[in-house]
Amino acid sequence: MSVNQQAHTGPPYGQPQPGYQGYQQPAYGGQPLPGVPQSQYGVYNGPMPGYQQPVPPQGYFASLGFPLKGSPVSNSDNSSLAPNFIGSLRAPPTSGAPPPASGSSLPSGHLAYSQFGHGDVQNGIPASAAPMQRPPASQPFLPGSAPTPVSQTSTFQQYGPPPASVQQLSNHMAGMTIGSTTASAPPPAGLGYGPPTSVPPVSGSFSATGSGLYTPYTASQGPPPPSVSQGLPLAQSPFPGQPISTQRLPTQVPGFAPPPSSTGIGPSSYPPTTGAPRAPSMPGPPLPGQTVAGPSASQPNHVSSPPPPSTMTGLHPGPPMSGLRGPPPPTHPPQPGYQMQQNGSFGQVRGPQPNYGGAYPGAPNYGSQPGPPPPPKRLDPDSIPSPIQVIEDDRNNCGSEPFVTGVRGQVPPLVTTNFLVKDQGNASPRYIRCTSYNIPCTSDMAKQSQVPLAAVIKPLATLPPEETLPYLVDHGESGPVRCNRCKAYMCPFMQFIEGGRRFQCCFCSCVTEVPPHYFQHLDHTGKRVDFYDRPELSLGSYEFLATVDYCKNNKFPSPPAFIFMIDVSYNAVKSGLVRLICEELKSLLDYLPREGNMEESAIRVGFVTYNKVLHFYNVKSSLAQPQMMVVSDVADMFVPLLDGFLVNVNESRTVIVSLLDQIPEMFADTRETETVFAPVIQAGLEALKAAECAGKLFIFHTSLPIAEAPGKLKNRDDKKLINTDKEKTLFQPQTSFYNNLAKDCVAQGCCVDLFLFPNQYLDVATLGVVTYQTGGSIYKYAYFQLETDQDRFLNDLRRDVQKEVGFDAVMRVRTSTGIRATDFFGAFYMSNTTDVEMAGLDCDKTITVEFKHDDKLSEDSGALLQCALLYTSCAGQRRLRIHNLSLNCCTQLADLYRNCETDTLINYLAKYAYRGVLSSPVKTVRDALISQCAQILACYRKNCASPSSAGQLILPECMKLLPVYLNCVLKSDVLQPGPEVTTDDRAYIRQLVTSMDVAETNVFFYPRLLPLTKADVDSDSLPAAIRNSEERLSKGDIYLLENGLNIFVWVGVNVQQGLIQNLFGVSSFSQISNALSTLPVLENPFSKKVRSIIDMLQVQRSRYMKLIVVKQEDKLEMLFKHFLVEDKSLSGGASYVDFLCHMHKEIRELLS
Ligand SMILES: [Zn+2]
Repeated sequence: MSVNQQAHTGPPYGQPQPGYQGYQQPAYGGQPLPGVPQSQYGVYNGPMPGYQQPVPPQGYFASLGFPLKGSPVSNSDNSSLAPNFIGSLRAPPTSGAPPPASGSSLPSGHLAYSQFGHGDVQNGIPASAAPMQRPPASQPFLPGSAPTPVSQTSTFQQYGPPPASVQQLSNHMAGMTIGSTTASAPPPAGLGYGPPTSVPPVSGSFSATGSGLYTPYTASQGPPPPSVSQGLPLAQSPFPGQPISTQRLPTQVPGFAPPPSSTGIGPSSYPPTTGAPRAPSMPGPPLPGQTVAGPSASQPNHVSSPPPPSTMTGLHPGPPMSGLRGPPPPTHPPQPGYQMQQNGSFGQVRGPQPNYGGAYPGAPNYGSQPGPPPPPKRLDPDSIPSPIQVIEDDRNNCGSEPFVTGVRGQVPPLVTTNFLVKDQGNASPRYIRCTSYNIPCTSDMAKQSQVPLAAVIKPLATLPPEETLPYLVDHGESGPVRCNRCKAYMCPFMQFIEGGRRFQCCFCSCVTEVPPHYFQHLDHTGKRVDFYDRPELSLGSYEFLATVDYCKNNKFPSPPAFIFMIDVSYNAVKSGLVRLICEELKSLLDYLPREGNMEESAIRVGFVTYNKVLHFYNVKSSLAQPQMMVVSDVADMFVPLLDGFLVNVNESRTVIVSLLDQIPEMFADTRETETVFAPVIQAGLEALKAAECAGKLFIFHTSLPIAEAPGKLKNRDDKKLINTDKEKTLFQPQTSFYNNLAKDCVAQGCCVDLFLFPNQYLDVATLGVVTYQTGGSIYKYAYFQLETDQDRFLNDLRRDVQKEVGFDAVMRVRTSTGIRATDFFGAFYMSNTTDVEMAGLDCDKTITVEFKHDDKLSEDSGALLQCALLYTSCAGQRRLRIHNLSLNCCTQLADLYRNCETDTLINYLAKYAYRGVLSSPVKTVRDALISQCAQILACYRKNCASPSSAGQLILPECMKLLPVYLNCVLKSDVLQPGPEVTTDDRAYIRQLVTSMDVAETNVFFYPRLLPLTKADVDSDSLPAAIRNSEERLSKGDIYLLENGLNIFVWVGVNVQQGLIQNLFGVSSFSQISNALSTLPVLENPFSKKVRSIIDMLQVQRSRYMKLIVVKQEDKLEMLFKHFLVEDKSLSGGASYVDFLCHMHKEIRELLS
C-alpha cells in the first residue's frame, strides 16, 4: 500500500486526550461524576456534522453508492426541498427518533434562538440561555415484527440456574483442552505499555484553571466587527473531487552527506554524546565579537525580543534564534527573561561529532571523522531551546486572559497553557488547531517553505465547565440555510446583500436567495439586525438540528445500542477478567450516555459471550431468567434472536443482573482456549442491522484468534523484520478480511471498541483494523493481572462507556477558494476523497486534515475553513455540528513563520510519519521527516533571518522547539524501537497516535517530568516541570514522569528516609517495592500531595495511566530512561544536542 492510501488501511487509531476533560473517573460509583456538570456536557451534546444532504437513495452508506468524489458541490440535492415534509415524516413509527415537535423541535431551553429574529439588536448570545436539552427520545426497541430467525445451529437454552446451563455448555465445549502456554501470565514485559500496573482511583478533580470569569458574550464584548472577513468574494471553485494527495514523503531526501568540513567549525569537535553535561563552553561561536560564555543574558537573542522585521541584525551574539521577528504581538507578548536558554543562534554548531554516526541511524556517514575527538566542546544543553521554558513563558503570557476568537488568524496559546476561550466568530482552539494561522498566498511559497498546512480537528471536544457548549439551532422543517452551490452552512462570514434578500457565500462566492423565513433586515453597516441572536451568524461553533433529509434512508434514526461481547475462553476466565467485567457492568449500565436532561439513557444494550462459538442472550424483561442461544456455525454469522436481544436497561434490569451473575459461573470450568474474532464483530453488526440502528460494540478479547473461522489469524510476529524493507508488514493487517468487515460496519454505523488482554502476540495491527476504521478505541492491558490492572481497566471502561459519542458520523471540511482539504489522518473510513466517515466519533477523537493550494489566496480575503459533522446523538437525534475558522494569508514568508504552531506541526508530522511506515521502510520515513524539517528551517534562514555566519543555527521563534520535538518523534517506538518494545506495542501506539489531539501528542512525545520533592504541599499547583534528561535528575529527589499512557515515579538513591517513609510507608530505599501499581494511602502532607497530583493528571488524560515505581539503578530504570527524551536512547536515538547539530548540518547543506 502506498502512503496515501491510508484511509482504508488500518488506520491507526488512538484516542486523544483533551486537555481538559471534564471527566472524572472515580466518581462513577453511585452518582454522576462529581464536579462534572453532567447535564452540562457530560453526557454529550450533540454536535452536528455538516454533511451535505445526501439524499441517498438507500441510505447514503450503501457501500457503493456513496457520493463519489467531488460530489460536494454537485449534489444538487434537495437540500432546499426537504422542509415541507418534516412534520409528517419525523418520528418514524418504530424507531425511537426524537420526534421533533413540529415547528420547533427544540427542547425547552433553546428559546434563546428562536428561529425568527426579533428585530431588536441584542448583543451577545444570551449566554444565560439554559443549557441545551434534548428531547427525550427513548423509544424502546420494538421487537415486534422482527423475525426471529432461529437458525439451525442455534440452540436455545433456558439457563436458569447454573447447573442446567453448564450442562448445555459442556456439549459445546467438549473436546477442548486447555492451552498450556497461554494460561500463565508471563512476566511483565517491556514497560511502557507492557506490564500493567494499576493506578489508584483518581479522586482529585481537575479544576479548569483560568478564571471563572467567562461571561458569555455580552453586548459589550460583542463579536468582532463583521468587517473582518465577511463575505469574501472569492472566485468560485467547486471542489472537484481531488485525489488524495499523493506522495507525502518528500522523496528528495538529500541523504545526509558527509559533513562539509568546509565551514570553519571544527567538524569533529563534538565528542560523543554521553550523559554528562559538557564543559560550559558554548559551541564556540567563532563569530568575532561574540563572547563565549553560555547564553549570556545580554544576548539579543532573547526569545521574544520582537526585533523589527526588517532589521535582521542583531545577529552578532546571536540573533534570536527564534526568528527575527518576535512572536505575534497579540497572542504572545514578548516575554522577558529567558535566561537559561538563549534562543538566539547557538553559536556555530560544530560539525558532527564523531560517534554520531552510530548513534544516529538516520545519519549515514556521519561519524566519519576518524581520530580522537578534540577536546569536548559541545553545545551546552542550557543554551539550546528548552521546551520547559517555552511552555512556562506561554503560560505566563497567555494564561490569564481569555482567548477571544474574534480576530482572524490569531494564534492561540499553547496546549500546555490553561486558558478560557470566548467564541466570537471562530471555533475554539479546542476544536481546531492549525499548523499555521497565516497561510502563504501561493502554492509556490508553500512549497518553498515546506511548512505543512494542516488543521487538527476535534469536533466533539469536551469543554471546561466555564465555557459554553455549542448552541443547538433549529430551523424547523427547512433545515439549515446553506449556499446553493457549495452547500456550505450559514456562518458568520457569509455576506448579506440586497437589503438582506440574498447572501454571498464566503467559500465559493455564489449568491443565494435568503429563504423567506430566514429574511432579516440589515442595519446601516450591512449587518443583519438579528446578528447576535443567531449563533450561526455570530459564533464560530454551533449545531443545527438536522431534518430527515440528513438521515439514512430518509428516516430519523433509532437510538443507538451498545453490545457487550465478552471473551470467555480459559485465559479470560482464569485471570478473573470475566467476573470483573460482569460485576462492573451491573453498575456501569446505569451510566450510559444520556442526552441533556433526560432521565434515562435511550441506549439499548445487548450481551454476547464467546470463545470458539458465540452465545447470545435473551434478556427480555418478561423473562424470569435470561436465555442463552449458541451459534456454533461461525462461518456464516447470524443473530439467533432479535426480540429480547437489545433491551432497555431499566426494563430488563432483573434479567440482566441475573445474566451477569451467571456468566462467570457458567464458564468457570471452561477449558476452551481458542477464540474467534471476526465472527464476533459480524454478530454485533448483524444485530445492529436487524435493529436498524447504529451502535457500539465493546469487545473484551484475550488472544490471537486461531480457531477455524473467518478472519482466523496466524502468529506472524517477527522482530527480525525490523530495519528491513519488510518491516512495514508488521504494521499492515495480515488479511484484507478485516478491511472489508470495517467497511460494512461503517455503513451500518457500527463502531467497535476493543479491550485487549494479551499474554502474547495477538496481532494488534490486524485486530485493530475494524476498530480503527470505525472510529473506535483500542485499549491494551498486556499480562493483565487483577490486582495490579483492574483499576486501570475499570477506569478506562467507565470512561469509554460514558463518554460523549456521536454515531453514523460524516465529516466534511469546506474551504474558501484557493485551498482545499487534500488529506486526512485519523480513525475513520473514506469511500471518496472528501467525506470522512465514522461509525462512531467520541469526544477524544481527532482528525487531522491537510490542505493544499489549488489557486492563489489573497491577503485581504484570508482563508476560511468550515468543518461540518453530521451525526446521530446518543438519543438518536440527527444533528450537524459546525466549526468555522478564518485564517490570514501572507505574501511574506516571515509572516508564515511568525504564526506557526509547533505542537500542531508535530502532531501532523507524527501522523504523517506513522502512516508512512505502512508503505515505506522506517528509515526512509525518518529521513524524510528530517529532510522536511531541515527544509523548513533552511527556508526560514535563507529568507527571513538576517545574514549571519553559516556557523550559526537560527531558528524561527515559533519553531524553536521543532528540532527537539521532531527528534522525539524520530526516536519513538514506532520509528525506532528498542529491544523491549513488542510488535503489538508498536502497532498499538501507531494507532493511538493517529487519533491524538495536540495536547496528547505533545505530552506523549515529550513527557512531563515533575520533581515531586519540590512540590508545595500547601498549594494546588504542580511543581515546575524540568527537562527530560538524566542530568537534570538529582539522586536526592523523587520525580514523576507522565506521557499520557504511563506515570513513572522515580526515586533517587539518596532520597531522605523521611520522604520514603512518607510516600511509600517503608523505612528505606531498598524496601520500596517496584511492583507497586499504586501509592499507599498515607496520612501525611507529602503523600497526599503526590497522590493528588497523580489524580489530577489522570483526570486530564483520556486514558488511565499505568503507575510504575522505578528506583534509581534498578533494572526497571532502563524503561524509565527511555522517556528521558533529550538523552541518547538505547535504541540509537540521538540526544537533543546531537540532533540539533545534525539538523544544523542539514540546513547548512541546503543553504550551500
Ligand atoms: Zn458556496
